[in-house]
Amino acid sequence: VFAGIAQAPEDPILGVTVAFNKDPSPVKVNLGVGAYRTEEGKPLMLINDPSRYKEYLPITGLAEFNKLSAKLIFGADSPAIQENRVVTVQCLSGTGSLRVGGEFLAKHYHEHTIYIPTPTWGNHPKIFTLAGLTARTYRYYDPATRGLDFNGLVEDLSSAPLGSIVLLHACAHNPTGVDPTVDQWEKIRQLMRSKSLLPFFDSAYQGFASGSLDKDAQPVRMFVADGGELLMAQSYAKNMGLYGERVGALSIVCGSADVAVRVESQLKLVIRPMYSSPPLHGPSVVATILRDSEMFNEWTVELKAMADRIISMRQQLFDALKSRGTPGDWSHIIKQIGMFTFTGLNSEQVAFMRQEYHIYMTSDGRISMAGLNMKNLPHLADAIHAAVTK
Ligand code: PMP
Repeated sequence: VFAGIAQAPEDPILGVTVAFNKDPSPVKVNLGVGAYRTEEGKPLMLINDPSRYKEYLPITGLAEFNKLSAKLIFGADSPAIQENRVVTVQCLSGTGSLRVGGEFLAKHYHEHTIYIPTPTWGNHPKIFTLAGLTARTYRYYDPATRGLDFNGLVEDLSSAPLGSIVLLHACAHNPTGVDPTVDQWEKIRQLMRSKSLLPFFDSAYQGFASGSLDKDAQPVRMFVADGGELLMAQSYAKNMGLYGERVGALSIVCGSADVAVRVESQLKLVIRPMYSSPPLHGPSVVATILRDSEMFNEWTVELKAMADRIISMRQQLFDALKSRGTPGDWSHIIKQIGMFTFTGLNSEQVAFMRQEYHIYMTSDGRISMAGLNMKNLPHLADAIHAAVTK
């Protein structure tokens, strides 16, 4: 009965690793997937397993994990938390949090259009469309400056219908590595609040942009401080190295404690028929670290080391291109932040580098800086140089 089914294409990001794994070359480099790697190119194990208890969690997940997650992103002294206006439910990493939030909005929010930046993480439009929302775009990245198209962003959000939902990357925008400044965030906040645009923050890289958890959460906290509502999807994949454990949280900041109780009851109706209840192991690991000040401090040191190693790779790649005299202004490599650099290489150059140099990245020219180290960096610089001067 399924004989007529068409072959679906590989995922544009995860498919890069499929191709990489098939390549027998000893010099191959995978810069496709945003997963942290050490200088030795190995995954970094940040934590040991604390949990033996294997019972079902409630629909909303591990309560302590939810509380600690809200504190981590909104700040321990957040008035919204103190006023019990925040409802947090544990979800399947960042993706699951976005999906549950999207389904909740499709069911309970009056406006079904969500504005997402161009470009954005490729999964965003699919998640929200399948959740029942209509995805539209707002301008974000300016290829000419390889920076933020702030005027385009303001224009597009200004003309969005009142009450529309707006997806915002909390920090370390994927794939561009370009974030608004604090001043620009403040202007975006004022504009959005004046038009009752509902912020839906996606935080997949807290701690990775600056190396400081609090600093990376600053834009989000500005939106909470004004007393308004918002949604927040948090992922612990990158910042705790828990990728495959699928640990994340969806928080909804509501107008009052009373509303928060009702919102939570409806979130349960979204989650129960979707996957019943979330997994236990990952959030136990996260709660163990977040509740213990010594482990928390140790974690922040490791996080800073990851962020610093990436920043140092940026400098070294920039220097390597400069020393090769590679044509073009490569300063965006040091200006952009977080895990990714949007190199500006076109799909033809990307294909050339894969063919001739066994270097793998997504076809939009995005490279994961975390996949670089002293050993493979000269090889990448040679490849970029050859691709640009070809
Ligand atoms: N949002 C963004 C912007 C991301 O880059 C990612 C990870 N690539 C996610 C969300 C979600 O990832 P996960 O579901 O693994 O937490």
